[in-house]
Amino acid sequence: MFWDQQLECIEPERLREVQLQRLKEVVKRVYEKVPFYRKKFDEAGIKPEDIRSLEDIKHLPFTSKTDMREAYPFGLFAVPLSEIVEIHTSSGTTGKPVVAGYTVKDIALWAEVMARCLVMVGATKDDIVQIAYGYGMFTGGLGFHYGAQKIGATVVPASAGNTKRQIELMKDFGTTFLACTPSYALYLTEYAKEEMGIDLSTLKLRIGSFGAEMWTEEMRKEIERRMGIKAYNVYGLTEIIGPGVAHECPAQQGLHVWEDHFYPEIIDPETGEPLPEGQEGELVLTSLTREGMPMIRFRTRDITTLHREKCACGRTLAKIERIKGRSDDMIKVRGVMIFPYQIEQAILEVQGVEPHYQIILTRPHYLDEVEVQVEMSKEIFSDDVKTIETLRKRLEKKIEQTVGVRVKVTLVEPKSIPRSEGKAKRIIDKRNLK
Ligand SMILES: [Zn+2]
Repeated sequence: MFWDQQLECIEPERLREVQLQRLKEVVKRVYEKVPFYRKKFDEAGIKPEDIRSLEDIKHLPFTSKTDMREAYPFGLFAVPLSEIVEIHTSSGTTGKPVVAGYTVKDIALWAEVMARCLVMVGATKDDIVQIAYGYGMFTGGLGFHYGAQKIGATVVPASAGNTKRQIELMKDFGTTFLACTPSYALYLTEYAKEEMGIDLSTLKLRIGSFGAEMWTEEMRKEIERRMGIKAYNVYGLTEIIGPGVAHECPAQQGLHVWEDHFYPEIIDPETGEPLPEGQEGELVLTSLTREGMPMIRFRTRDITTLHREKCACGRTLAKIERIKGRSDDMIKVRGVMIFPYQIEQAILEVQGVEPHYQIILTRPHYLDEVEVQVEMSKEIFSDDVKTIETLRKRLEKKIEQTVGVRVKVTLVEPKSIPRSEGKAKRIIDKRNLK
């Protein structure tokens, strides 16, 4: 299913032409309209007319989250404030949030790319789309909202939280399409079953679009099984537009990037050098058509790999692999880089535990210690001590094999790890590192 088949299956050569034309235009525009970019380009000794090929993008300076915070609130806008019709922010854990401004055209663009995402996985005007992402300053809720309305679906703007009501809505309205974070999707299945006696796989749900946090293939299988749906990965970020930068297709092997609007590069996070296709690194995005707040070479900090071969679904647009972690989320333990997703993968391969875990980092004697707390299933919890100890040891071994570092596993009671209605907090760092 295609929203815009001609564009989604465009000849790669033609796509390059479109991208180059748009890149030249946006670079010229930000140089003229945004003092922040003019200053950065001048310092790097680059002028808009130096961009003659797509490869020349590598001469442009990066834009970072820190740059955006310094430009708070409206320093990166390329149009007068009177042209901005909507503002969003991304939650910052430290300091000021990042602000994004949208013109009328930008909102239309957002609806367009989200429409492509939804139709790609089979959504139609007959679907009842329940959006359990937060509405408000967060882009998740409204991004899906605009896209679902654009394709003519029936939107249920449930927003995040109020789990009991979410499940009642699903049941009473016959929700067929669910959008939320993957950890919340799992929580919904659990709550429905245990608190309300409802098996979500018996409802009308058929498609889910999940994102805004890292999740694994194993978690996908678990959600698909518990909900009786096809579960897809959505990617986006406030700095670029919100959800809708990329989305998985029915092949479920990578997320197509709408690269006629968002130009992707992969760089080495340490050196900033562009990496060849197929190599893992940090995703950098340039918004080619955004009017209100164009972003030039934004460092997403998300770790992935870019692929350009034609997809089984017929689309020619590049694909990124599911996000493996954030370059600033990597945990460096005794010199080894580990990502939370690796631990999650290992846990989900072992029977007898629930997909709820927390990683606790401590440094008791000048040496990093990693403790992974994992919830036992109800069945195992009521089993004898020996069985539990065998399971614990198996987990420790599995995690060590996956990440290459010895960790301590503690099995905890069912339901003892805090549930989240948004992004799950996976790492608790008690090391006091600066
Ligand atoms: Zn595809």
